[in-house]
Amino acid sequence: MKYIIVTGGVISGLGKGITTSSIAKILKVRGLNVTAIKIDPYLNYDAGTMNPYQHGEVFVLDDGGEVDLDLGNYERFLDTNLTFDHNITTGKVYKTVIERERRGEYLGKTVQIIPHITEEIKRRIKKIAIETNADVTIIEIGGTVGDMESMPFLEAARQLWIEEGFRNVLFVHTTLVPMLDVVGEQKTKPTQHSVKELRSLGIQPDIIIGRAKDWLHEDTRRKISLFCNVPYEAVISAPDAKSIYEVPLIFEKQGLGEYIMGKLQLWGENPDWKSWRKFLDNLFNPKDEVTIGIVGKYVHLKDSYISHREALTHVAAKLRTKVNMRWIDSEEVEEKGTSLLEGVHGILIPGGFGSRGSEGKIMAARYARENNIPFLGVCFGFQLAVVEFARNVLGYEDANSTELHPSTSYPVIDLLPEQRGVENLGGTMRLGAQKVIIERGSRAHRIYGKTVIYERHRHRYEVNPEFIEEFEKHGLHFSGKDESGTRMEIFELKDHIFYMGSQFHPEFKSRPLKPSPLHLELVKKALEYKRNQ
Ligand code: GLN
Repeated sequence: MKYIIVTGGVISGLGKGITTSSIAKILKVRGLNVTAIKIDPYLNYDAGTMNPYQHGEVFVLDDGGEVDLDLGNYERFLDTNLTFDHNITTGKVYKTVIERERRGEYLGKTVQIIPHITEEIKRRIKKIAIETNADVTIIEIGGTVGDMESMPFLEAARQLWIEEGFRNVLFVHTTLVPMLDVVGEQKTKPTQHSVKELRSLGIQPDIIIGRAKDWLHEDTRRKISLFCNVPYEAVISAPDAKSIYEVPLIFEKQGLGEYIMGKLQLWGENPDWKSWRKFLDNLFNPKDEVTIGIVGKYVHLKDSYISHREALTHVAAKLRTKVNMRWIDSEEVEEKGTSLLEGVHGILIPGGFGSRGSEGKIMAARYARENNIPFLGVCFGFQLAVVEFARNVLGYEDANSTELHPSTSYPVIDLLPEQRGVENLGGTMRLGAQKVIIERGSRAHRIYGKTVIYERHRHRYEVNPEFIEEFEKHGLHFSGKDESGTRMEIFELKDHIFYMGSQFHPEFKSRPLKPSPLHLELVKKALEYKRNQ
């Protein structure tokens, strides 16, 4: 069993997640079984209760785990499904240890960070390696070396290296190599300092990945090699890339794959990049372009809707179409009106919570419906489109979701029955992959090509079954439901170019070579709409 540990230095936001995903990919194309773990040193038990402005989107796994968005990157690069256990947090580690202590399992000992917390960290890592039967387990340690909260994890990594053997554990350190514009010189001092910090914790990196605007100059690589005690060929450039999906090939070109295989004494097949290259080739050489307006309240942080962005990128490659994403603040739509949406060929309303900006989303849904503009509403977007329809087609003036207006006279979106009485906010929504039954002959059936699908969920509210008949009578058709038939999962509007919504989140299962069917259809219809203009 082999382990690769990825740490970060100098600053956060260096794209460590993409580096980790890319290394995983390089090994996977050699026929190895690779899995990835993300360590988040924060005290939260999981990412579920965090606002997207904190760490970006909350990603949802098949098993219902609400996790860090890097797990989304791992899934997309590796085309695999991970589990909640692949995201280790300080909260999870301490909870287990404290519960054991309460049960008396430490037999009267003093419970300490070393060895008890570090043991628990290693136990969690090894459990994943064993359960997935991985040839290589890659572990990304969040945060920056030197942060107080990441210390126990780095110590656990050091212990792992001793226990598993030097040939079985590899350390990759990602740093920033800034360039001083005036002289055009790449500065290695920050890298030297962060490696020094790492070495003071007993960890000597085997590979250094230098993030810089450009490729690292030869003398920069030599300097890093000399001062950081790493062979020249193990100093790798991570220049700005056109697409995150290009990064594995950038690493491969520098011999990183062979270097890792050699260091870990692994044997694999010849790397097969054919389909990945084809994907990039399509992405970089579009024949057409469309603009999709994405109306949300977290649009100012790029990572808040990362899975939608990636899903649309996967679609872009599939259709060889450049998809321009116009991020529109729903609060601004409230102030300035739907003129902000002019010129888009399709509208997407992603998931969300709470009333701020919700009226702007409702305005956008109405604009799409009345102007025959392709529309996809996801989760909250699905719910608000239903509210819009109730108000403006059924004439239920104050129709709303009870999440936003608890005493509305028309609660067309209401709390799921099993949610009544739920008090804890963490991990209590209807979560993860759930079975959806699609009606034969519907538009959804044509799009998915199946009558049974499993898509990922994250919600507390649903379409109130009391109003279904009325909606159906007026053309809002529910073509996807749960197995009981009482829970609405998909709607499609008759007599519209494309007006659909899903209670589930199709963006979470979108993969580079297997785009989300609903996002694909949205862009296809946007192209059709554009041609008809
Ligand atoms: N706030 C809505 C609910 O809880 C929608 C959630 C979402 O969009 N993920 O049902």
